[in-house]
Amino acid sequence: MTDPDFFPAGSLVAVLTTQPLDRTLDYKAPEGGCWLGAFVEVPLGPRKVLGVVWGAGRGDFDISKVRPINRVLDVAPMRSEMRSFLEKAAAYTLTSLPGMLRLATRAPGLSDPPSMRKIYRLGEGVPDRETDARRRVMDTLREYGGLGFTLKEVSELAGVTSSVVKGLVKQGVVLEVDTPRDQPFRQMDPDFGPKELTDDQRAASDRVTEGIAEERYGTSLLRGVTGSGKTEVYLEAVAECIKSGRQALVLIPEIALTAEFLTRVEARFGAKPAEWHSGVSMTERRRIWRMVGQGGAQVVIGARSALFLPYQNLGLIVVDEEHDTSYKQDDGVLYNARDMAVLRASLCGARVVLASATPSLESWANADAGKYDRVELTSRFGPAVLPDMRAIDMRNEDLPSAQWISPTLQSEVRARLEKGEQSLLFINRRGYAPVTICRACGHQVGCDHCDARMVEHRFQKRLLCHQCGESKPMPEACPSCQVEGKLAPVGPGVERLAEEAQMHFPEARLAVLSSDLFGSARALKEGIQQIAQGGADVIIGTQLVAKGHNFPLLTLVGVIDADLGLQGSDLRAAERTFQLMRQVAGRAGRSERKGTALMQTFQPEHPVIRAILSGDEEGFWQAEANERRAAGVPPYGRMAGIVLSSSDIQQVFDVGNILARNDGPLRAVGAQVFGPAPAPISRVRGRHRVRLLVKADKSAPIQQALAQWIAPIKLKGDLRLSVDIDPQSFY
Ligand code: ADP
Ligand code: ZN
Repeated sequence: MTDPDFFPAGSLVAVLTTQPLDRTLDYKAPEGGCWLGAFVEVPLGPRKVLGVVWGAGRGDFDISKVRPINRVLDVAPMRSEMRSFLEKAAAYTLTSLPGMLRLATRAPGLSDPPSMRKIYRLGEGVPDRETDARRRVMDTLREYGGLGFTLKEVSELAGVTSSVVKGLVKQGVVLEVDTPRDQPFRQMDPDFGPKELTDDQRAASDRVTEGIAEERYGTSLLRGVTGSGKTEVYLEAVAECIKSGRQALVLIPEIALTAEFLTRVEARFGAKPAEWHSGVSMTERRRIWRMVGQGGAQVVIGARSALFLPYQNLGLIVVDEEHDTSYKQDDGVLYNARDMAVLRASLCGARVVLASATPSLESWANADAGKYDRVELTSRFGPAVLPDMRAIDMRNEDLPSAQWISPTLQSEVRARLEKGEQSLLFINRRGYAPVTICRACGHQVGCDHCDARMVEHRFQKRLLCHQCGESKPMPEACPSCQVEGKLAPVGPGVERLAEEAQMHFPEARLAVLSSDLFGSARALKEGIQQIAQGGADVIIGTQLVAKGHNFPLLTLVGVIDADLGLQGSDLRAAERTFQLMRQVAGRAGRSERKGTALMQTFQPEHPVIRAILSGDEEGFWQAEANERRAAGVPPYGRMAGIVLSSSDIQQVFDVGNILARNDGPLRAVGAQVFGPAPAPISRVRGRHRVRLLVKADKSAPIQQALAQWIAPIKLKGDLRLSVDIDPQSFY
């Protein structure tokens, strides 16, 4: 019998490459044949490119010109479930398949032969002379049984120079062997360090482990306030995966979180998991990619792109802080890792756990509709209790201009300082001041390339564009009227707030936590750790602090501007403000001491502010859901954002108008088009941006209609068109 998944030498196969072509290419199977899904190197013009055997050849190309595959790579073939994941994800996001394959092969040197390195282990020989140093080497190697070490590792462990080890190699006492550089990860032990769960937690963990051993798909929305033990609960699901020989992936939103988190996972399972994010070295990426593919990595902790690794037997995907907006990739392939996790899991019979204290309305609605299993943890673990939440009505506070910390908040901070407790002042704005204005002519300093104001970063003594990253020194004279010495900051950023805090609390030790004040992710991690251990009395922070960090000494959170997120027209403004405020407030009182969260607001009667303060989360979600349902917007309707951009403003509007006039394919599925209109940020990096918005029923087959609609558009010049299905931000 012949296996339909095997292609004997010389037969025609279709190969999907990572090159931007809109089809697969035919090649001849190499000597020895190849399997469906094999990673291969194929000739393309003068180059060699990476590809995957995607099926039988199409046979629509002159057979005499079809070239053979150069070679099959020494990595695990792509599984059929991964191929259908890429196909479905491509269709959903309207991305080309090669684009998806690029996401799935983001590791360097995949086509290189596995490289080798030398390792050292104990041999049979006896040394001619026993010195102290030599004995230490032998003892060290004996102590670790048959384990092998690199030269550097043995020398360090034994406290000897490498020449001592080399000397023992010559006498056969120590063996030097070549082994592949890409080593499997250490075995994880599901029973290494389990915690005793509360009844509540046990019940939750039973639900989120359901189906893992039986390879049955299911999604749980695990909801519980910060500190209720969500992490402990989903680590039980990870344990279940390890026990049943399946792999687990935990997605987390913020690189800064991984240090603390990895230590925790190690304490639970006795070994470090694989760690996948942009800060991981290239060799380590390759190792992880290979090991995940051959089952040498049981648990991966990673950023959203870890979803595209070639798991061999994926049993669980956890999406921690599932509401976090960073799960939506907003350039290149526009996908939402939370939604793609559900797709991927449904194809391989895995469980998804979406964990959050403040779920997205999308997930809340899916649970409400019975698509997700809703699992609740109702109280904090241990003695900690939820913070008191109160508004500070700014209409009644007496504040001099250019100050933002109200007298009420000041005295609360002072009370904490006296007791040796920490306070956090939260403002969601990086830099010193959001606007720089000329007092002579009223000009506001803007970016030369974008429709955005430049933000002063006093710490770096520069103006920065938060859209394109352009920066320039703070000018002496107004760029518009040339008058000197009249440029003045308007409004507060985190750096300016720190200045004010310094003035009010001169004896206090201040720490500013903002992403651009730390040179590297590592420096940031260290900074956070120091603060958590009591290295500061008052923390001034941006939303960086809202995400999961543990500050046990913190008992007061002051939100400087609770109204900030409520401005603007984003349909998720209320949801975002609600989530952010709840998360920030959740930083207070995480250990024995009760916390207080105070929100400065000019509109304490605003429904969102009231919902935040009253803690009536269910009420908030219901009300928000009703409004969105009535408006037919996500999650109760579908949306797609189309952005046209070009250096030629006429061209973007012309093409936008052509699209708007020819909306037949959209009308056929009941979808409506709005626009073209200048995008909220109408120029970025010198490119003009025009946006169209498509709205449809939730059930409308919108992707096909969109594809038909945009197909006739020819991208002339530097015109670009991007389609964002389920847009999260509307810039
Ligand atoms: P969440 O993920 O909901 O914020 P965590 O799982 O991080 O909550 O739990 C908060 C803290 O309480 C952590 O330090 C955790 O180790 C501890 N904790 C939670 N549940 C237990 C338990 N059953 N036994 C011991 N410690 C626990
Ligand atoms: Zn700019």
